[in-house]
Amino acid sequence: MFSEFKKVFNNRDNVAAEWKKSGNKVLGYFSALTPEEMIYAAGILPVQLFTTNLPLTETKTCLPDFICTHLKDCLEQAMTGKLDYLDGSVLAHACEASRGFYGVWKLNSGMPQSHFLQVPATSKKTSRDFFISELKIFKSFLEEMSGNEITDDRLIHSIEVYNENRNLMKKLYELRSFSDSSISGSDIIDIIKAGLVLPKDEHNRMLENIISNYHENPDIDNDQGDVYICVVSNAIEEADTVIEVIEKCGGHVVMDNFSYGMRYCWDTVESGPDPLGSLATHYLEKIPFPGKFPMAKIVDSLTGMAEESDADGMIWLVEKYCDPYMFSYPAVEIKAKEKGIKMMSIEAEEVGNIPRLQIKVEAFMESLMDEII
Ligand code: SF4
Repeated sequence: MFSEFKKVFNNRDNVAAEWKKSGNKVLGYFSALTPEEMIYAAGILPVQLFTTNLPLTETKTCLPDFICTHLKDCLEQAMTGKLDYLDGSVLAHACEASRGFYGVWKLNSGMPQSHFLQVPATSKKTSRDFFISELKIFKSFLEEMSGNEITDDRLIHSIEVYNENRNLMKKLYELRSFSDSSISGSDIIDIIKAGLVLPKDEHNRMLENIISNYHENPDIDNDQGDVYICVVSNAIEEADTVIEVIEKCGGHVVMDNFSYGMRYCWDTVESGPDPLGSLATHYLEKIPFPGKFPMAKIVDSLTGMAEESDADGMIWLVEKYCDPYMFSYPAVEIKAKEKGIKMMSIEAEEVGNIPRLQIKVEAFMESLMDEII
């Protein structure tokens, strides 16, 4: 039922090529802090850059080892011609590594145009005002690149399309949350990934179809595992492997908290006469992103979602050298413990060694089982 989404993702170069046939541009972006609505309003296709686990050769001379795999891999893709279909890129300020990386990217990626979007670390009034001024600079960049003016009407329409996507994704999550749902955690990942490379209106149509088909013909799976797991991650590329292993070990992934999963669609952007202001509020306030403040909000949100979904345990999948996620882990673990939720962390780089990963996940599941019984 969900294979179409996987196919779209695997053929993402063709999706971009199709889009470009009508003379439109394609822009690669690095993080969930990027207001995609603005890119789409400019008539540009926003495409998330994914880690592909290429052997690193070219980047070795440009970047130190202690940079996360995501950034290293994206630069390797650019330097080896795998991102030639992009007309430009935008790097939102997710962490200090990304700020330093931008200079290296600009010099070595060969991107025709690139932009660094400053994203404040707090959502105070002064930060919001600053962010609005940064969004205006980003808007000019997009207008120049596309040749299209981003009018308020275009932006309002784009926000509506993205909000529809968030609402549809929420519906899908609801269907997945039933204990006998046949929608697996890996299916959800395929669906999310397709949405990050497709025009959002096309993704919306695919979601509508799948939801109505599911309602007409609900596929029941009584073999879902008994141990409820919440997966938190910024490494969606590796998350499907981890989820498959969890499901094989008798777990049922009842909640995820990826930058692009439940956290992405939890809240919609307020519709109103000031679309840029609404986007600024949304991206600063509504999506707690590790590395931004206040930390308490991030901790409450992550553990709250796990608690609401009755998760027995949380698996924290993180890229090696990713400071924001590593920095947040201890505070989340303390709060999760208070709520009776056990946590385990896995480095994305461990995912390449499936037998080792399986042993680790099995041990964690057994420790949870002991407590459930
Ligand atoms: S937030 Fe983490 S994964 Fe993302 S760019 Fe920064 S270090 Fe890399």
